[in-house]
Amino acid sequence: STKKSPKDKDIVRDYFNSTGFDRWRRIYGEGGDVNRVQLDIRTGHQQTVDYVLGWFKNDKNAVGHTICDAGCGTGSLSIPLAEMGAKVYASDISEKMVGEGKSRATDPENPVFEVKDLASLSGEYDTVICLDVLIHYPDQDSEAMIAHLASLAKSRLILSFAPKNPYYVLMKKVGDMVPGPSKATRAYLHKESDVRRVLEGLGFKIKRKEFTATSFYFSRLLEAVRN
Ligand code: SAM
Repeated sequence: STKKSPKDKDIVRDYFNSTGFDRWRRIYGEGGDVNRVQLDIRTGHQQTVDYVLGWFKNDKNAVGHTICDAGCGTGSLSIPLAEMGAKVYASDISEKMVGEGKSRATDPENPVFEVKDLASLSGEYDTVICLDVLIHYPDQDSEAMIAHLASLAKSRLILSFAPKNPYYVLMKKVGDMVPGPSKATRAYLHKESDVRRVLEGLGFKIKRKEFTATSFYFSRLLEAVRN
């Protein structure tokens, strides 16, 4: 047969423009329109966002800092960074997510939002950030994405991903057996050692790292700086 199976990217884009948009708009919001699992994920994700905001607060360097937030979603990180004085360029492959981000922003000019696949981003930024996006892509694609994002980063790349270890592999197996609407996309876990090797190969070293785990959300956060 010549039937082509759709690429992860197409599946992910469609998902975040349809049922995924509805689900994640609520998780990344503040309303009471979430179930127990979604509330747990909201709390975990906010922790990851707060770690990144905390690094900027500690360093007192947000003002004037240029940031590229790749796969920005509804602007959970981009909007507070812009409010802290950074110049934020926020893009996402889903026009629905970008539309929601725009409507949540307090300043219509910052962040600058755009619908764009991160593979076609260009320009140079002090810091490039990509939170909870690599979970949608297998290792090979993730590696190419990290390399491209690194090429846009003048001094720093901040990434988060779901780490692969025996416990989370088991949890994912159990989760995959439970039917549910969230199964529209596959979740890919990545070994931290693999991600580090990629970053080191690109001339970066890890400066700070954090880890968030709630019952249903887990994310390793790495700050990689140029050597
Ligand atoms: N980074 C945001 C945050 O932490 O709030 C959103 C995370 S959400 C789990 C994943 C986002 O990545 C979705 O908004 C999705 O549309 C976006 N995305 C997935 N693949 C992408 C790609 N190839 N280029 C740009 N954005 C992408």
